[in-house]
Amino acid sequence: MREIQAEEITSVVAEAIKNINFHIRPDVKAELQRALEEEASPLGRQSLQLLLENAQMAAAGVLPLCQDTGTTVIFAEVGQEVRIVGASLEEALQAGVRLATREGRLRHSIAVHPLSRGNSGDNTPAVVHYHPIPGKALKLFVMAKGGGCENASAMAMLPPLASRHGVGDYIVNIIRTNGAAACPPLIIGIGLGGNFETAPLLAKRALLRKIGEFSPDPETAKLEKVLLRRINELGIGPQGWGGSITALSVSIETAPCHIASLPVAVNVECHSHRLTEVKI
Ligand code: SF4
Repeated sequence: MREIQAEEITSVVAEAIKNINFHIRPDVKAELQRALEEEASPLGRQSLQLLLENAQMAAAGVLPLCQDTGTTVIFAEVGQEVRIVGASLEEALQAGVRLATREGRLRHSIAVHPLSRGNSGDNTPAVVHYHPIPGKALKLFVMAKGGGCENASAMAMLPPLASRHGVGDYIVNIIRTNGAAACPPLIIGIGLGGNFETAPLLAKRALLRKIGEFSPDPETAKLEKVLLRRINELGIGPQGWGGSITALSVSIETAPCHIASLPVAVNVECHSHRLTEVKI
């Protein structure tokens, strides 16, 4: 067995959270620059310029990319030959969130109860998904997921014989209705199949894909390209000011589903797209 100290995990997670809050991902920056070259709408272009300036200012380390420092979502791939020493993995991860919030002076964004709304004061708890993997590595996808774009997300249980076009209509209508409020240009994760609890998780997982990468499955990739075109034809544009760049990418993850069901989940992500992958 390989032993990993809980303290090391806490420190790695804290650094990851601070890093994603202050430094735009290179693939997102490249896509925003490409969008600036392609966007014809003057207000859309101005918005893209402001987003790039904002990213440059955030990199100085004083103010983060966005005041909403998000819910921390962690996908933890845990090697079956790994033993965590000193605390549980869960405790180590949550301690990393606390440390990052304190050191990065991040806004406190988590209400401990959905109705009474008291603030946890340190951005815990993070939402953590655990997956066992073979080997001795601990891989963590760490995401800061904004509240506004999460609110734009939705899911439906469509009839099993809904056509590809019908599935597409549902997804495009979600963006038509909610997209402008989610700080576009958007990164859109879609979960297709599974069941009522797994389709949204597939959609979140779809956001882990590098921007610009399409599914290795040709049929899925074809739908991703069609949806990206249709969403960009909506005219919402950067920050909702009108234009041809409403989304930077559409990623779909699929899973087998019941013969009576066709679950579809749309997880909307904003241009900040604060996500990183670390391996311990
Ligand atoms: S949707 Fe994203 S960019 Fe907009 S306020 Fe929320 S975290 Fe910030």
